[in-house]
Formats: sequence, C-alpha cells, structure tokens
Amino acid sequence: MSVLIHNVLIPDGGSTTSASVHLKGDRIHQVYFASASIPVSDDTWIDGRDKLLLPGFVNAHTHSSQVWQRGLIPQLPLELWLADVFDSTPTNLEQFYLGAVSTAVDTLLSGGTCLIDHAYVVPGQELETVAALVKGYKQVGIRAFIAPLIQDLPFVAGLPKGCTLPHHPYPRSTTDILSLMEAIIKQFHDPDSGIYIALGPTGFHRCSDELLVGCADLGNRFNLCFHTHLLETRAQQQLAQERYGETAVQHLQRLGVLGDRTTLAHSVWLTADDIAILAQTGATVVHNPVSNLRLGSGIAPILKCLQAGVNVAFGCDGAASNDAQSLLEVVKLSTILHTITDPDYQHWLSPHTVLQMAAQNGARGVGLEQLGMISSGNIADVVLYNLAHPSLLPCNDPLQLLVLGRPTDVVERVWVNGKLIVEEGSVKTVDVAALHQELRDRTRYAQSHQSLLLNQIETHYRQMLL
Ligand SMILES: [Zn+2]
Repeated sequence: MSVLIHNVLIPDGGSTTSASVHLKGDRIHQVYFASASIPVSDDTWIDGRDKLLLPGFVNAHTHSSQVWQRGLIPQLPLELWLADVFDSTPTNLEQFYLGAVSTAVDTLLSGGTCLIDHAYVVPGQELETVAALVKGYKQVGIRAFIAPLIQDLPFVAGLPKGCTLPHHPYPRSTTDILSLMEAIIKQFHDPDSGIYIALGPTGFHRCSDELLVGCADLGNRFNLCFHTHLLETRAQQQLAQERYGETAVQHLQRLGVLGDRTTLAHSVWLTADDIAILAQTGATVVHNPVSNLRLGSGIAPILKCLQAGVNVAFGCDGAASNDAQSLLEVVKLSTILHTITDPDYQHWLSPHTVLQMAAQNGARGVGLEQLGMISSGNIADVVLYNLAHPSLLPCNDPLQLLVLGRPTDVVERVWVNGKLIVEEGSVKTVDVAALHQELRDRTRYAQSHQSLLLNQIETHYRQMLL
C-alpha cells in the first residue's frame, strides 16, 4: 500500500500548514512541505485540498459491553449507577463481540484509531469473552488494548463503611484471578495484529493489595500496560482514607504499581501531593469529562495536572455513562470545561493542545511513542477530515472548527497501521448496517426497571455521602 495525500493541511505549532504526506506500508513514509519536490511514483494520489490530516486519537478509557446499556441507566451517582449497570450487563458472548464492533466503529468515526477497552468479562467465561472482543476488534482493524476488569473484593467493599453491609465474598481467589490473567495474556496478546492485553484491576476500591501488586508484576513480566479506575468519586476518596489512612495515590505509589505505562481513568479527587506523585512516576491521567458530569463525579483537576507535568489523555468511558461515544465531543467538552476552574485564561486549553493530548498523550499512555504525530517514520494511524462539510464551514481555523464546533460526519478516511479502514466516511471492514440491525433486534424500548442491588445499598449511600 502506498498513498500520497497531496496538499493536505496538517498541524504545525498551534496552527496548520500545507504538506503532502506519503503513507507506505505501515508507516508515514515521508512528509513533504510546500517547497519540497515530490518524487514521481505510481502511488495512489488523494487530493488533499479542503482536507485536514491528523494523527488518530486514543480513546483511552471505555467499556465496550456498555453499548447495550446506552440510554438505559438513570442519572445516578457512580456507586448507585454501578449497581444498576451490574444488574443489566449482557451475558451473551455475541453481544460482547457486537459491543466491540460498535465501540470500534464509533471511535473511528469520531477521530480515534486506538482504544483501551476496560472490558467486563463474563464470570466463568473470561477467555471466551476476551476471544469475542478480539474477534470484533480484529475484524474492524482498530488498534485495541483489552484490559479485562478484575477484582477480588465484593461490590460493597467499594463503598465507605461498606463492610457493615451484608455481602457475599468474591467467588474467585486472588491467585486464581492472576492465573487467569496470565492465560489471557498468553493466548491473546498479539501486538503485531493490533491486539494488546493490559492489566485492568477495576480500581483500588474493589481490589486487594495482593491483586494490585500481582497485576503490576504481570505487567512487568510481559511488558504490558496497567489500566485502572482511580478516585472517580468523593466516596472513593473517603474510602481510601478509611482503608489506608492515606490517599489512594500515595498507597498505589507505596505498592509500586505506578509507572509510565499506567493509565488512570478519571482521577477526579486528587490532592496537590497526588498530582506531584503522578508527575514523578510518569503515570497518565485519562480524563472522561462527559461521564464525570453524567454521574455527578466532579471536575478533574486537569489544568493543575498539566501544569505539574502529568501526561493527560482522553476517554469516552462506557456508553452507560456516556451515551454518545464521540471522541470529538469529549475533546470539545475538555476544551471549554476547564475555563471555569481557573480564571487565568493563559492556562486554558487551546484546540491545538487538546488535539495533541488526544493523540500524542494517548499514545504515550499506552507506550506507543511512534504514534500520535504526523511525522516521517511514525506508524500510519491517521485520520483525514473533510473540511468542506457544512458543519466545518466557513473556512476559518480548521482546528478551532473541528474542536469547538459540532462536526458531524467529517471523518472521511482512516488508516490504522497503514491500512485503509474507513473510506468515504464508512467503515469498510465490517457491515455497519448489519450491526445496527442487531442493536435493534436484540433490544426493546425499555420500561422502567428495578435494580435489586441498588435498592439494597441506597439507604447506606445516602447515610454515608449526603
Ligand atoms: Zn470506567
């Protein structure tokens, strides 16, 4: 495969410049700037006029099975929302496969080329669930990190004073869970085909120290990423003090699990000391602003993190807490949300900065330094946007139009690892119409439903946190 995208706009400093970009094999072979002469060859030529080429974004936190819970769960704080999510999580493996396909399609069509699926796995069918996800991601052709959600403490352990509630012990031992993860890694981790297994303990709040350290050890042994929820809510902040007598970040550092391949979803309730630790360890904060607002979790201190030198990337989070899986929406909200957290406008995020965070910081978070920039020699995970689309008119600053506007159907082509998988705005590797038919056929307009678990914990939650 060899393609020349002729005279296309690419990011340059805080602005854009015209260049011709040669994709060859799995690489951005060469970037020719305006004055450079382009050698004649038999490449496929794409006219880049009225188009913008950006490095693909990384959707650094989502839960693919929640596609089935889009528009289902009422507006509740995380702890109560989660009880409802558990009660309606699918158990059919075909739905997991379709969830992966749907998540990949939504990611691609909103500018992403890579995702981290913090994946729910069906108890007793963990390998089969991961196999269904791998099948979906391979078929679409997106770059996918699959971090199976694992825990070894029961649900109520994640609540402050949760141990006072009646609960069943977690059914699997820590050793069993770690052996299972090792089996998943050996069977499915396959970077050459774009599938990466990551360690995904659900969060300190439902994991023993032994499990967290065991995951970090496996990560070190197999050179894998470590992905976890961190301090999403005030309840978790309270729980950390109750359990450890220190902050969750201090505790994770003490355990030695924070490093430059650690990605921490949410990180809303951080102290100044926590932020310093994250900067020092090289861990990545994954900002999920839509989900944080949907669940009333709070506003993550993103400007403070950036000022301290923390790597910050973006995620959609699952469709049960972000009912639209659009990276462009996340990027827009991230740009405008933090103005209210700091009156000094010189600290505000610019469209250029957020685009860089979405691509380059995301790539750094997953340890793929050769992604995230349009430059010669980098891996060709790139997205071509149609600037002539009415939602991007008139022809002003293309980066501002893309980030601050409400672009729709503007992703024209996407290459992942040099392979064209979106053309003329459609994913060409899977039958998207058939996917949509499945989403219709397997669901029905929901009537109000009762979550048993939610009813069991609601009084406790209100006593503890309101
Ligand atoms: Zn999440």
